[in-house]
Amino acid sequence: MDTDRTSGSAQRKPLQDERFGHFIDGRLEGGETTFDVINPSTGDVLFHCPDASHEQFERAVAAARRAFPAWSKTTFEERRDRLARFAAAMESRLEELVRILTLEQGKPLAAARAEIVRGIGIIRHLITIPIGPDVLRDDASGRVELRYKPLGVVGGIAPWNVPIVLAAPKIASALYTGNTMILKPSPYTPLTTLRLGEIAQEILPPGVLNILAGGNDLGQWMTEHPGIDKINFTGSVATGKRVMASASANMKRVTLELGGNDAAIVLNDVQPKAIAERIFQAAFANSGQVCQAIKRLYVHADIYEEMVAELTAIAKRVKVGDGLEDGVDYGPLQNKAQYERVIGILEDTARQPGVRIPAGGHAIDRPGYFIEPTIVADIAEGTRLVDEEPFGPVLPVLRYTDLDDAIARANDTRFGLGGSVWTNDIAKGAEIAARLETGVAWVNHHLGVSAEYPFGGVKESGVGRANGEMGLKRNMEPQLIVLPPSASA
Ligand code: NAD
Repeated sequence: MDTDRTSGSAQRKPLQDERFGHFIDGRLEGGETTFDVINPSTGDVLFHCPDASHEQFERAVAAARRAFPAWSKTTFEERRDRLARFAAAMESRLEELVRILTLEQGKPLAAARAEIVRGIGIIRHLITIPIGPDVLRDDASGRVELRYKPLGVVGGIAPWNVPIVLAAPKIASALYTGNTMILKPSPYTPLTTLRLGEIAQEILPPGVLNILAGGNDLGQWMTEHPGIDKINFTGSVATGKRVMASASANMKRVTLELGGNDAAIVLNDVQPKAIAERIFQAAFANSGQVCQAIKRLYVHADIYEEMVAELTAIAKRVKVGDGLEDGVDYGPLQNKAQYERVIGILEDTARQPGVRIPAGGHAIDRPGYFIEPTIVADIAEGTRLVDEEPFGPVLPVLRYTDLDDAIARANDTRFGLGGSVWTNDIAKGAEIAARLETGVAWVNHHLGVSAEYPFGGVKESGVGRANGEMGLKRNMEPQLIVLPPSASA
């Protein structure tokens, strides 16, 4: 199959005259070398992005360390005020950020707008969460408090699927809790995040937030550097393991938000028509490139054919295209490597005996990295599509007859991010949800990260939690303060 999807057209380069630079010690700067950022809707080069040198990285770490003592002594209120101003500044430049995000990530403008608005909302919510000392004992025997101190310099490393929804909580969590920060976006989608540096320039003291664009080597420098105290990482399981190993050198704290292969279990008491749209959206949002998307759909045999038919009808109806075009529901795969991986999984799927592909199954014949929304029926475990995390617009629908068996199959994976149960019996749904080995389990819903609640996975889907009070506290070190009764000498 021809996987070189470059259109060759020179017309879609609207960002080439703009300025995107690393944000180091309060200043924007370029660099001697660059890497190409590709528009996934065309395959054309969008921008020659500066690639951070080791010298620039060292300066960023030094700046963050210099800024830490003063920043960590500011009060929560002061930091809340600065971050609220940062969120307001993002909002005032919303349409500019939306356009850059669509161009580099590929998602439709409406989805890009929703992502930026969400990122702003996450910042605004996180900075309202009080982090007081926890009083563990206060009686005649004395007072015992758990107090929380910032860690120092936090490194944030993000993937390419939702760059701002993942960068925003990393920035807010690290800075609000009194740390300074080095943030590295994915080399596939660095531009919107670099623009956040320009926005922060007038608001944050120099060195408090540093944003550097670069490849995997920059990520590795971050995880190895003794001047960085914690890594907040979002990405694949394979890279997460490398981050954890490398962080051990100076006992860096880590929070790892990794991949998932979420199962949804549909019981036979629901009407497929009533839930098909919600299931489809939870599987195909962002063209399936969501860690917590439904990636395995277990449907009871009684309603199996009807559910496949409903999902097939939606898959054939939705519009896939360039995110800048009107009326587009889903964009392309974000990059060529991911596109080729999903094509490989589709080819493997088509070779499976007895499999049916009632919708999609192929690349779309146009420039860029487009794949048809694909529904796969009569497929089972033991195939790449079901066992791996495809991270593309492909949903396998698996048949079950025994509920315990469906739960066991849903849990029979090294992943453990999210899961869901779909039923009209909420109490029964709650029972089944509790049996899923995941960081979150929903009843009659799937997908969605809230700043209010801890977010993360079990098994190989991650370590620790982001967001909520629990996530914020993972950017701090608890210290136990043990006091005698006030009368004692
Ligand atoms: P990836 O692991 O390839 O890359 C993620 C980031 O890590 C990038 O910035 C990359 O440059 C950097 N990196 C690569 N090698 C590194 C190293 N050795 N040391 C440090 N940093 C390094 O992941 P991806 O392909 O960009 O993203 C897709 C994956 O992310 C999927 O598995 C998806 O499920 C996962 N994801 C998880 C969540 C979550 O919250 N659990 C959210 C979104 C995406």
